[in-house]
Amino acid sequence: MRLLEVRFPRDLLEGLLQVAKENHPREVFFLLRGSTKRGVVSVEEFLLPPTTTFGLGFSSFSLYSMPIDLSIVGTVHSHPSGSARPSIRDMHSFLGVVMVIVAYPYDMRSVAAYDREGRPVKVEAV
Ligand SMILES: [Zn+2]
Repeated sequence: MRLLEVRFPRDLLEGLLQVAKENHPREVFFLLRGSTKRGVVSVEEFLLPPTTTFGLGFSSFSLYSMPIDLSIVGTVHSHPSGSARPSIRDMHSFLGVVMVIVAYPYDMRSVAAYDREGRPVKVEAV
């Protein structure tokens, strides 16, 4: 089924934007935990992947140290460049069913989400 929407609790999304803002111009990367039902992803929390390093212009983590956790629905990372479009590299490292990008200046309008095909997915704060 095609992914239609990703839902965040509003305070969680605001928290994510705040963390991205505090780390600017470094990129941040988190795993999203939650559930998927009828094409809608409901995010419950975000977590830091183990052995994450935040660097200028990129973030990386080791897939080998990833927890085996089926409740990981996707990822979120920041784009200090201000573009909310996924890069080729982003699409190659897609994890789960949704990729969320928060772009500079990290407000509600700078949040975008994509499915595995790179198609835009609606973002809803609830
Ligand atoms: Zn990216």
